[in-house]
Amino acid sequence: MSVRAISEALFAESLRHIPGGVNSPVRAFRAVGGTPFFAHSAQGCRITDVDGNSYIDYVGTWGPAILGHAAPAIIGAIQEAATRGTSFGIPNPLELEMALAVKASVPSVEKVRFCNSGTEATMSAIRLARGFTGRDGILKFDGCYHGHSDSLLVKAGSGALTLGHPDSAGVPADFARHTAVLPFNDLEALQGLFQQHGSKLAAVILEVVPANAGLYLPKPGFLETLRELTTASGTLLIADEVMTGFRLGPSGAQEIYGLKPDLSCFGKIIGGGLPVGAFGGRADIMDYLAPLGPVYQAGTLSGNPLAMAAGLAAFKSLQSGEAWKQLEASGRHLEAGMVEVARAAGVEVCWQRIGSMFCGYFCRGPVWNLEDALRSDRSRFARFFHGMLDRGVYLAPSQFEAGFISTAHSVEDIEQTIRVAREVFKHL
Ligand SMILES: *Cc1c(COP(=O)(O)O)cnc(C)c1O
Repeated sequence: MSVRAISEALFAESLRHIPGGVNSPVRAFRAVGGTPFFAHSAQGCRITDVDGNSYIDYVGTWGPAILGHAAPAIIGAIQEAATRGTSFGIPNPLELEMALAVKASVPSVEKVRFCNSGTEATMSAIRLARGFTGRDGILKFDGCYHGHSDSLLVKAGSGALTLGHPDSAGVPADFARHTAVLPFNDLEALQGLFQQHGSKLAAVILEVVPANAGLYLPKPGFLETLRELTTASGTLLIADEVMTGFRLGPSGAQEIYGLKPDLSCFGKIIGGGLPVGAFGGRADIMDYLAPLGPVYQAGTLSGNPLAMAAGLAAFKSLQSGEAWKQLEASGRHLEAGMVEVARAAGVEVCWQRIGSMFCGYFCRGPVWNLEDALRSDRSRFARFFHGMLDRGVYLAPSQFEAGFISTAHSVEDIEQTIRVAREVFKHL
């Protein structure tokens, strides 16, 4: 009998009632084959499935679990808040406390509004940018993911300067037409687009460190030029830090790269594992939002007291700064080990990392954009993924997702991961 028999039975049953058996596509393991395990519980860096198998987890619920799962400070804060009510629909003091915490942490944020997901944050930031500038066009970069709203589910058309094509059925081509898509890190294409269309662009949205096609970093000069071009053309610059915010440091990737965006989007970590999103930035722009301004945006559960309490607890636990130092050390440790075992096995792996985020591509590096990332040998990745999973290490079930380390991963957990990888690499 399979070691994941109960998970397999639950998945088979789920397939009859939930499309693809999952509530978010990547969970279905389609990119690596096989079927997902069903979680029973998670504690620290370990997640346990319904069959009783335990895994060292490098998915961390796709980023939020920076303190590990079920961190006592977060659970305590949620429990305390819940006893006073789970939603009010009228302001509560935790919203103000959270706004002050975000502002204190991220200098480019003068005003902030909370919503319920990263998708809502980016979608609202785009509408706000359009309302503020009176322009319709936006620019995004191929391989950057900004949630699943219509304007942002757009991919590059053929030819570098053509306008975007829908990246999902159901997105009208008329919407996608307003979204231009360029390769990340391509200065020439960027300059060309701004020369022709800069004055029509309401906003450029980007992941400052793109981590939804694996992980790659901005080339020196790319962000500086982007900031200059956007400022010169009156185009707003939106930093999507849903993944990197509070993961790479107190002020996210924008601080590391010295980028001052007009608006920023957050999610994941700032909800401490509960559903949350936030967008904020220049006060003159944010004041275009209803009820002050003409741009409508709302949410029944926005500023939810449980999410605010959980997010604040995560914040406070990170504030000492020790957490990010530990995460950097853990990231470096894992990187050194993985690079060494891959080399020893003669497997070509391009290990890319910043802080506690990482991706190992099965190709020659470096990787600077989606096109480079697509060179990775995905069947090899799938074998690697299953080899690791079968030996108790859970990585993201796709080559094109980043891995996350938490403060709950000990030196021994990382050494265990490297030992497992040494075994797996031998049979790749
Ligand atoms: C996850 C993610 C989103 C979407 O957030 P959801 O909460 O899943 O809607 C947006 N942008 C980036 C960079 C993300 O990583």
